[in-house]
Formats: sequence, C-alpha cells, structure tokens
Amino acid sequence: GNRTFSMIKPHAVADNHIGGILKLMEEGGFRIVAMKKTQLSAQQAGKFYEVHSERPFYGELCEMMSAGPIVALILEKENAVADFRKLIGATDPAEAEPGTIRSIYAKSKGENAVHGSDSDENAAIESAFFFSGFERY
Ligand code: ATP
Repeated sequence: GNRTFSMIKPHAVADNHIGGILKLMEEGGFRIVAMKKTQLSAQQAGKFYEVHSERPFYGELCEMMSAGPIVALILEKENAVADFRKLIGATDPAEAEPGTIRSIYAKSKGENAVHGSDSDENAAIESAFFFSGFERY
C-alpha cells in the first residue's frame, strides 16, 4: 500500500513540535494527504486503541491520548506503512535509532511523540476513523 495513518501525540503538540515533526515526515519522502488538529475524548481514544484493550497500559494510553489536542494525518509514499515505522523508530525512545522522529521527540514509551499504523488494513481503518472520503487530497 502507498498510504499510512499517523497521529502527533498530545505531549508533542503541547510542546510546539507539530512543525518539527511535519518537517521530518516531508523530508522522509511522505506527502501529506489529509491533516487535522482535534482532541479525542477518553471514549474515542479507547475505541481507536481497542486492539490494546487487554494490555496493562491501556488505561494510561487512553488517558494520555485524550489529554490534549492531537494532529491526525494520512501520509503517502511507496511502501508507506513499513517506511513510516522506520522513520518514527522503536516504541521505546531508548531503543529508537538516532535521527528517527521518536529519538528526537519522544519522552517515554507511552509519550513517544507519534503513532504509525502497523499494517495496510489498520491504516485504512484508522484513516476512516478521522477522515471522510472528501478530506483526502
Ligand atoms: P503505535 O501503534 O502508537 O505506532 P507501537 O506500534 O510502536 O506504537 P504498540 O506496542 O502498538 O507500539 O503500543 C501502542 C502505544 O501504546 C505506543 O505507541 C505507546 O504510546 C503505548 N505503549 C506501548 N507500550 C507501553 C508501555 N509499556 N507503557 C506505556 N505505554 C505504552
């Protein structure tokens, strides 16, 4: 697939890192197809992260993701899902390769600056969660 879904997480938005993160996305070869700043309710965050509902950090994750505004994005590039996960780096910033978005902007395993879809199927589901068909250019 040539599209993936991303979110800039609340702590990174609150710290004024939207521009810095978008710059790394564009320099990484991704075109912005759709973008909006919005805030999730705890219930919406719970729905978005439903696949993680059995994980021990689920409550903390939903609270963190609804704590402030986020930026939701659809990004386009050949091999988008895999290449974007390479660009953002490991979940734990201590393990993220130098130069990756998380190595620069993540604060912890939970507050790790950005989300990136883990499959083409989830990219489509997550994109539809935030954007309608006529918001994708
Ligand atoms: P994402 O799906 O957001 O791109 P990921 O695939 O790197 O991240 P997952 O294991 O799917 O990581 O976890 C989803 C999100 O849950 C992480 O991005 C992080 O914010 C949070 N998370 C993961 N592990 C922990 C943990 N041990 N403690 C707190 N939060 C965590």
